[in-house]
Amino acid sequence: MNRCMCEHRIEVDNLDNGEIINHTILLIKGHIRQPRFPLPNNTTKKCVEEQLVLRLRQQSVHADSAGELQQHTPISRNGQFKLLCDLGQHVSLAEEVQLQLDFSFCNTSHQLEILYKAADSSNKKYRLQPLYITCSKQSVPEELVHENCEKINLNLRLVQCIYAEQLRTAGFGRRTFTINGDCQVFESNLSCEEVWQQNEKDLWQNFAQELLTSSNWGEDSKLKFVAFISCTRYDGAAVAASGDFSYANIRIHLKGHAALGGGGLALFGAAYLFAWPQTCNAIQTCFGSTKEVDLTELPDDSNYRRTYGGVYATTLGAVVHEIGHTFDLGHTQDGVMGNGFDYVNRVFTLDNLTEHLPDRIIQHVAPKVIAQVATRPRFTQLKRTTNSFLDKYHEQKTSDSFYFTRNCAVILAHHKWFRIHNGSADEERAGDAEITYDAVNNCVISAGDNHPLCLIEVRCMDNSLVKYWYELQSGKDIDEIYTFHLPKEAHEENHYLFVLTKTGLTKRFNEY
Ligand SMILES: [Zn+2]
Ligand SMILES: [Zn+2]
Repeated sequence: MNRCMCEHRIEVDNLDNGEIINHTILLIKGHIRQPRFPLPNNTTKKCVEEQLVLRLRQQSVHADSAGELQQHTPISRNGQFKLLCDLGQHVSLAEEVQLQLDFSFCNTSHQLEILYKAADSSNKKYRLQPLYITCSKQSVPEELVHENCEKINLNLRLVQCIYAEQLRTAGFGRRTFTINGDCQVFESNLSCEEVWQQNEKDLWQNFAQELLTSSNWGEDSKLKFVAFISCTRYDGAAVAASGDFSYANIRIHLKGHAALGGGGLALFGAAYLFAWPQTCNAIQTCFGSTKEVDLTELPDDSNYRRTYGGVYATTLGAVVHEIGHTFDLGHTQDGVMGNGFDYVNRVFTLDNLTEHLPDRIIQHVAPKVIAQVATRPRFTQLKRTTNSFLDKYHEQKTSDSFYFTRNCAVILAHHKWFRIHNGSADEERAGDAEITYDAVNNCVISAGDNHPLCLIEVRCMDNSLVKYWYELQSGKDIDEIYTFHLPKEAHEENHYLFVLTKTGLTKRFNEY
């Protein structure tokens, strides 16, 4: 074998040596350079290696106790690989664990060390709790509860990884939210019949209210919830009888369903969990599944892909999107908070072809905004690009089409649920800062000295679509910005101002 003649190089794109990871599912993206290296003696004969091997070892003080995880992953024609590691499953995760990653391909190898830290200890306060909502007098088989809770646990950890990846890409490091614990069953006062009669906004209102007043969860204002309604019901027979398989008709025959986020709650129906994986190993297979959805039995929400993989992508993308609203994000034309959330699959799959799915009509959000702050010039402004097919192609190639636009990334990076807290009293007093709008001078002002302005968005009242945004950057010779004069264009009918400070305070002005 001429294997040793190969000259490959393994490159990891999204992980640095020594990087600190606060989330349990890790996506590792990279390339093999010269993956099909021709052997010199015979140019028609090429290296036939097709798999990359990762060995993951825990560097423990008890040298022999640590187990080794080994994973094989295919490489694409151009040498790309994407690996999902479940750190939570394969190593015993104490608060802090040093992990050694050993990649090998053919005759080449590459090493990395990372530090897993359960959660930033200073960021323990602000968390996200997954819930599985059952109705009063509803008997859900124990096994189904278990299975669905496991799916919710796994996929919320995946969403946590997605946020970390996206913010790292945007230049803010691996900031993400912290999960409070395993999915818990929450019993509602509503009966299934009552749930089936309500629309998603009423369901959101009702469950948000019940959670606020519950003895278990109501006390803690630093918890947000991601909840799934267990009794979502699909009448496939009626859809089949009507012969109308449009999404609108499917939605009409889906009762007790929601995909709505805002304030402290992101609410979903459980009907689409059929397409979700229960183990980390199954994630990439599920995204790639071309199995067709039988619409007489199961509902479809895949932006007309009508496959299990499409349903998984669209409904998981919706979770990323709706959770985004609970973190005060508005809508954008493209990206996760706009037309791009169907494409979450592309983050995990290789050799993505361009998909041209229909654009969505941006829906309403359940609003609830907190906040405060202020500034002065020096801003960048978003100019919307045109939505041509070519743009779309380019976008999908370069960024998997699944990304947070800059303004969204800035909000997340400064959000209380994402920030690294120094635990100082400043943080706690933050609520006292006064962010005001001065109508006479047409400016937003942060009155306190400690809360410089960070971002100002002009959002539509109807659907929270961001029309303009201004990022305030203090330069070397410029002090932090506390007063921001609104440009003329910012005064739009039927719009409101969303203001964010560098310290993570937010405030909404309906009148400005
Ligand atoms: Zn080789
Ligand atoms: Zn939305």
